Amino acid sequence: MSTTQNTSFFNDVCSFFDHASQFTNHSAGLLDQIKACNSVYRFRFPIRKGNGVEVIDAWRVEHSHHMSPTKGGIRYSDMVNEDEVMALAALMTYKCAIVNVPFGGAKGGIKINTKSYSLAELENITRRYTVELVKKNFIGPAIDVPAPDYGSGEREMSWIADTYNTMNPGQLDAMGCVTGKPIALHGIQGRREATGRGVAIAIRECVTVAEDMKSLGLTPGLTGKRVIVQGLGNVGYNTAKFLIEMGAVIVGLCEYEGSIYNSNGLDLDAVVAHRRETGTILGFSGAANEFANSAEGLEQDCDILVPAALENQILASNISRIRAKIIAEAANGPTSPEAADAFIKRGGIIIPDMYCNAGGVTVSYFEWLKNLSHVAFGRMDKRYEENANLNLVSLVEKMTGVNLTSEQRGLIVKGPSELELVNSGLEETMVRSYHEIRETKMSNSKIGDLRTAAFVGAINKVAVSYMNMGIWP
Ligand code: NAD
Repeated sequence: MSTTQNTSFFNDVCSFFDHASQFTNHSAGLLDQIKACNSVYRFRFPIRKGNGVEVIDAWRVEHSHHMSPTKGGIRYSDMVNEDEVMALAALMTYKCAIVNVPFGGAKGGIKINTKSYSLAELENITRRYTVELVKKNFIGPAIDVPAPDYGSGEREMSWIADTYNTMNPGQLDAMGCVTGKPIALHGIQGRREATGRGVAIAIRECVTVAEDMKSLGLTPGLTGKRVIVQGLGNVGYNTAKFLIEMGAVIVGLCEYEGSIYNSNGLDLDAVVAHRRETGTILGFSGAANEFANSAEGLEQDCDILVPAALENQILASNISRIRAKIIAEAANGPTSPEAADAFIKRGGIIIPDMYCNAGGVTVSYFEWLKNLSHVAFGRMDKRYEENANLNLVSLVEKMTGVNLTSEQRGLIVKGPSELELVNSGLEETMVRSYHEIRETKMSNSKIGDLRTAAFVGAINKVAVSYMNMGIWP
């Protein structure tokens, strides 16, 4: 179990929901409908392993159908369980609502330790999982669209796309059945790093508000902010990379085998290279301290803590030792309700998971749109815009008698690439959503934190959809 013995991750999500729902005006029945997981599909299938057969446990949960398709990643982990997949599916519903991505929430889980299987076995498992989803109508560009999550990436998404495509010959939009695909297989530029980029933007927006930083005793802006990141996977690595680009200093890194710390900063890529060579983060020459007990790394001095591994990392048992003033939840569910409560009471800010890591689903939405339109963003208008800009620049040059250098001209004239359009859409989404959540918080003094505010906004949006739809049959 990834949840502690007496707690349930889904109940944690529901308790956040219940707390927020008092600040909305919806009937108990409608709130129940929003909160419930609509469809929970639990299945088992065999694969060949060596000379024998092994049975694999798997799930796909569609939490809410107020919008179609439903959307959410597939987690490959030997810790995954039904409660966790339900919680993650619910978070997806609220996440999509917060960033105005028109999907219902879903999530998948395959209970395996990926390190125990060969490449061919992983492919078998992924393809069989997809076949099971096809059989039950739990996948399709208009039905339910999976994506990567912990333990899965572009490779697995390719296998899913190919399996679905093979089983649905002639379906024009088949490639929109899954997102997070490689570029060469109808993916989109910028998806791989989208979640981390989004987390970094979320943190930047948070620390930009001078009033909020003042109450934390911090100066506004990211420059020089000391950050500890837990998890050097897709999300953690990219978050750290973009935070460094924005001026922050990574002082601590935590992986499952241990943690390292240096108050003067760690060289991110050198740490990654060291881990690749030696198989561990420990023993890195640029670290001033290291901790064999990885959790100790979270408790070191910093301004911002970014849990980017798994849920239930910051609990009632360690919250008093967390020294950060801001927790940016890059992972889903890293902070328990009790720990979150204690942290907020002592004045800290939590940037909640359902907003903080929404960059991934935002760019997945762009990928899905690209798949449905069958044309890359920018392909039709890049050259047109360049020509229009060139005409304008030439006219101004003629009228003023001033000629631009070719560098200046190139900068002004250039039409946008797909990557630039994706990053622009992502940044706009993260910036707008942060301030929308903060405004909801500021609008009612009883809403004490950003998570409650984010839930209030999400509940209101999902409620409007359900009310508009009515109930039929
Ligand atoms: P990943 O598999 O790429 O990386 C996770 C990393 O965390 C691995 O390097 C792993 O070794 C490390 N880790 C595991 N347990 C740890 C522990 N106890 N202490 C320290 N490190 C530990 O996964 P990811 O895609 O980066 O996902 C991480 C989190 O972000 C998950 O909660 C996931 O649900 C969430 N998320 C991911 C995406 C996405 O686009 N990939 C989008 C939204 C949310």
